[in-house]
Formats: sequence, C-alpha cells, structure tokens
Amino acid sequence: MLGPVILAASRSDKMRRFVSAAPGTKQVVDRFIAGETVDQVVPIVEDAIGKGLEVTLDVVGEDITTVEQSYAARDAYLGLIDRLKDLGHGEKAEMSVKLSMFGQSLPSPATTLNGEPSGPAGQFPTGHELALANVRPVVEAAAAIGTTVTLDAEDHTTLDSMFAIHEELRKDFPQTGCVIQSYLFRTEDDARRLAAAGSRVRVVKGAYKEPASVAYQDKAEIDKAYVRILKILMDGKGYPMIGSHDPRLIAITQELARRAGRKLDEYEFQMLYGIRSEEHLRLAAEGHRMRVYTAYGTDWYGYFMRRLAEKPANLLFFGRSILTK
Ligand code: FAD
Repeated sequence: MLGPVILAASRSDKMRRFVSAAPGTKQVVDRFIAGETVDQVVPIVEDAIGKGLEVTLDVVGEDITTVEQSYAARDAYLGLIDRLKDLGHGEKAEMSVKLSMFGQSLPSPATTLNGEPSGPAGQFPTGHELALANVRPVVEAAAAIGTTVTLDAEDHTTLDSMFAIHEELRKDFPQTGCVIQSYLFRTEDDARRLAAAGSRVRVVKGAYKEPASVAYQDKAEIDKAYVRILKILMDGKGYPMIGSHDPRLIAITQELARRAGRKLDEYEFQMLYGIRSEEHLRLAAEGHRMRVYTAYGTDWYGYFMRRLAEKPANLLFFGRSILTK
C-alpha cells in the first residue's frame, strides 16, 4: 500500500525539499548511495573488485529541466571514465545511465522557453536526439577503456525512445546493454527481440509507478512474468544480467541456466549497493559473476525514494532516524 504513495512523492518537488532538508536523512541515504563524488566512490569500487565483485556505476540524476544539465550529466560520466581508465579494471567496472538525465524528457531543446534558439542544443529538435548525442560520447569513451554502458529503464513512456537509442548505439558499440522490466505487459516481446547474439540485457521487476493499463499490479504476476522472461533470455543467444535480490528468482535463474547449458560466465547477477551485501559475496564465492549497481552523486532523491518504496521497512528506519535527530 505504501509503495505507490512513496513513488508518487518521488516526483514531488515539495517532498524533495522536505526529505533533503530533514535531519537524519543523510544517515539513511548513505546506506544506498556510495558517496557524492568520484573520489568517494573510487575506494568503494576498489574494495568491491578486491572482493571478487564487479560494479556498474550510476551517477544519480534524472528528469532534468535544462539543456545545460544534460551536458553536465554527460561530462560527469566522461570524468568518471577518465578515473576508471587509471584504475584499469576494464569491464569489471561498467556504467549505467538514465537517458532522462541526458535530456530525453526535455520537450523541445531546440528552443528555450521564450522561443529563442538554445545555443548548441539548437541542432537537436527533440529530447530524444539530444539524449542520443549526449550518450554517444560516453559509450565511445567507455569502449575506449574496454568497458560498457547499460541504459537503465525508466517509466514506460520513455521506453520506445530508450530502445531506439539502444539500437542506434549498438550499430557501433554492440556491447551496449539495456534494461527490461517484468511488470510491463510489453516486456516478453521486448525480451524475444533482444535475446539475440551479442546483446546484454538486464531484467528487473521494475521500480516506477505504472498504471494497470500497461503493467501488472500484483506482485505474484510480476514474479511469474519475470520467470517467463528469464526463460526467454536464458534460451536465447544474448547475455542475461539478472537484476534482483529475490532469493526465489536467484535459485530459479541458476536452475534455468543449468538447463540451458550456460556456463557461469555466460550470465551474471546484479544487485544494488547496500542491499543484501552478504548475498553479493556468497554468489561471487560460488563462482558467479556478481555486479553491484553502485549509485553516487548529489541528486539522489529519485533513486533514494524508489529504494524506500521497494521495502516499507526502510521507511520505518528513515522515520526513526529523523525522529532521533
Ligand atoms: P523484491 O521482491 O522487491 O525484493 C526481494 C528482497 O530483496 C526483499 O525481500 C528484500 O529483502 C530485498 N530488497 C529489495 N529491495 C530492497 C530495498 N530497497 N531495501 C532493502 N531491501 C530490499 N528498476 C527499474 O525500473 N529500472 C532499472 O533500470 C533498474 N535497474 C536495476 C538494477 C539493478 C542491478 C537492480 C538490482 C535493480 C534495478 N531496478 C531497476 C530495481 C528493480 O526494478 C526492483 O525495484 C528492485 O530490484 C526490487 O526488486 P527485487 O527483484 O529485488 O525483488
């Protein structure tokens, strides 16, 4: 019951101001966000890789409102890649990006609000084109240091654009990954299309507030769809990335991989930083590829609220930490 309310709040500016200013927030945010700067996240990357894990790094941010913010997002990733180059971990440290942070959701970046051409963005009549132009150099720089980028899945209205950008990027960088969400009715078809040789596909349950016209609302239905999608990916020719903390789905993945004759390096598990950390180590010790989605940066509000929505107990912890400050 609480999940949808928290997800609605994740889009409210008033709540953003309240949560960001509340005493005690930082303590809870720190559980899910690995730091504010590249300097803070680098030791966490080194520690994870030292323990036999891999990482995908997310510079938090989404739903920007200006073209300049989209360039800043691109530059933040390019700066990160510069640091990763020095660390030399190759694909053990990849990146996840949200296209809304690269300008995808801007209505018309070709003009400013008063109708004037908006500088260099004037060449991009749509947010879709701006996002593609911003993400391409990031994917290119990642490839140059031997690593990859995965396009996160945001709310359902953004997905046609995300898949089109994914397809476009894969022409030059076939290792570019994307995410599919089992709560959406469309996803089994997407999985069939994507389960082709060379593709990297992360499957997750889905973290946004979606209407009943496009998505299952019942947890059991979402889980059943996840298993159907897993089967498609495991029996296909691509590289499945299993983004879940759910012990049942992890066991089912192992069984389906065995039946499909996949070796341990022909798929990977992915979990979020700060959630079920012991399980990260257990799966890695069993010989699995285990990648930790490690979010960092200052614009953590949307990401943080989705983590609260996933587990109402987190909200209790959050409430307590505010009250005791
Ligand atoms: P659940 O049934 O929700 O959880 C299983 C168990 O995991 C819970 O019982 C609990 O013990 C633990 N757990 C799960 N969430 C939390 C939490 N927040 N706090 C504490 N414990 C928790 N969603 C998108 O829509 N788009 C994306 O691009 C995307 N990328 C993701 C990348 C990765 C690597 C992962 C792991 C998730 C991603 N998600 C994304 C989020 C995903 O859609 C789910 O919302 C989230 O993973 C919770 O679902 P679950 O499969 O872990 O199962």
